[in-house]
Amino acid sequence: MTNPFDLTGKVAVVTGANTGIGQGIAVALAQAGAAIAAVGRSSMEETTSIVETTGVRFVSIMADLGTIAPVSSIVEETVRSLGGLDILVNNAGIIRRNDAIDFTEEDWDTVMNTNLKSAFFLSQAAARHMIGAGHGKIINIASLLSFQGGIRIPSYTASKSGLAGITRLLACEWAAKGINVNAIAPGYFVTNNTTALREDKDRNAQILGRIPAGRWGQPSDIGGAAVFLASSASDYVHGTVLPVDGGWLAR
Ligand code: NAP
Repeated sequence: MTNPFDLTGKVAVVTGANTGIGQGIAVALAQAGAAIAAVGRSSMEETTSIVETTGVRFVSIMADLGTIAPVSSIVEETVRSLGGLDILVNNAGIIRRNDAIDFTEEDWDTVMNTNLKSAFFLSQAAARHMIGAGHGKIINIASLLSFQGGIRIPSYTASKSGLAGITRLLACEWAAKGINVNAIAPGYFVTNNTTALREDKDRNAQILGRIPAGRWGQPSDIGGAAVFLASSASDYVHGTVLPVDGGWLAR
């Protein structure tokens, strides 16, 4: 019997793969057999050494996704180096914290450009290749702020709520073309993105107190959901935002 979660022969692009959730996803997809194009603006040394132990093919592509300038070349370089592009994970993202009353245009634009605009236009560039191939999987890394308002993170909430909407729109346009577009909404994970929250003793206790699982997520906790949405096991799953949150949204 074939394993529906097997990614052998597939090629995956993961943005922001040098650390945190992106690294966790790159490693999980590699363990399931996919070749990896790790995209980011910082050194991929650590991710390279972990992924290489799985024996899959690997390429790192330096790109700053603060603008959409690199999106076409990311697709071209992946196809040239690894022979195709079957899976795109839009993971690169940033957060800026400030009261809404003081929030700056710069903090609005920087977050929206990286988290939403670049994810949309990289999806478009990837889909132009995937539609030709007749299949593809696009996974957007959303957030609990795709469902909730939050506080002091207006552009982050706007971008992640927008990303959930774009996930649904692209699923509607591309499902019949053989492309699955879905999202994962991580809960509270131990990464650079949440350092400030974890260092605030009161906030840390409040957050932990609401997570039924009783602990923060680790980047390795995301891997199973990513493999599922990247594999043939999810061929009839379109436009969903899958929480991986230790039960946070169930409270
Ligand atoms: P992280 O450790 O800060 O990772 C963010 C990644 O995005 C890093 O690889 C970062 O690269 C990359 N990135 C940011 N701006 C970029 C740019 N302009 N060009 C290229 N790469 C860029 O945080 P994380 O928690 O793993 O975040 C990964 C994703 O998960 C984000 O979309 C985040 O919003 C989402 N998320 C995280 C949590 C959580 O609790 N941690 C919860 C929900 C959603 P550098 O290392 O070079 O900055």
